Amino acid sequence: MLFPLSFLRRHRWVALLGMLLAFSVALPSDAEAATKKRKNSQPGKKLSSKTKGSKSAKNRKGRGSRRSRGFAEPTFTVPDIRRGFQTVIIDAGHGGHDRGGIDGQTIAEKEIALDTAVRLEQLLRRAGFRTVMTRSTDDFISLPGRVATANGSTDSVFVSVHYNSSRNLDAHGFETYYYHAAGYPLAARIHRNLLTTLPTEDRGIRRRGFYVIRNSRIPAVLCECGFLTNSIEGNAALGRGYRQKVAEAISKALIETRREGG
Ligand SMILES: [Zn+2]
Repeated sequence: MLFPLSFLRRHRWVALLGMLLAFSVALPSDAEAATKKRKNSQPGKKLSSKTKGSKSAKNRKGRGSRRSRGFAEPTFTVPDIRRGFQTVIIDAGHGGHDRGGIDGQTIAEKEIALDTAVRLEQLLRRAGFRTVMTRSTDDFISLPGRVATANGSTDSVFVSVHYNSSRNLDAHGFETYYYHAAGYPLAARIHRNLLTTLPTEDRGIRRRGFYVIRNSRIPAVLCECGFLTNSIEGNAALGRGYRQKVAEAISKALIETRREGG
């Protein structure tokens, strides 16, 4: 009698432990949940299951060395950003049938992202950069298609422009992503400039395996420039002034990086 009971008890604990573990691993951040919802049309086509934001020095230390789960690490090494680099690949998120954001979201991320990307393009050209847009119209471009544009260029950097969304309508702030270590310095500059230009919550510089930044062979950054599902940031992003400021903050970071290297 005792043996089956203790056996059962032990297994109950093992099951409970397993459930707890699965639950803690499955708990995504707001943005991550939103990205998962967006599925294959998103940069987060394949996500590492859990990495933390880098408000702490922890993530910074781990940059480039942290192994992401769920996919093989790329076999190539991305070179650091060279001082005086010439070209910026600007990637406006989503487009065409891929509206971006979450189901039922009022503001179309694809439109806000494209307008910001076009503003960024203008600022960068004015600053003497060569620019390449992965899309400049409301068309759907696949993630491999975007990466192909990035990988068709050397002495360049890749900047993907997105806006965030969450079921939690209170969620707001900036998140800036990189994957390869070479993208970190630019991500940090963009993030800092965004927060200085448009003070809001600092949600961190994060290392995540979003498809476009993981597969680009040039230093690559993905910016989430505020939450369209938040009434304050969403309304702000509907205004040209906000999008211009976002573009200016990113452009300033690129100019600084060209001057100082990555
Ligand atoms: Zn997006």
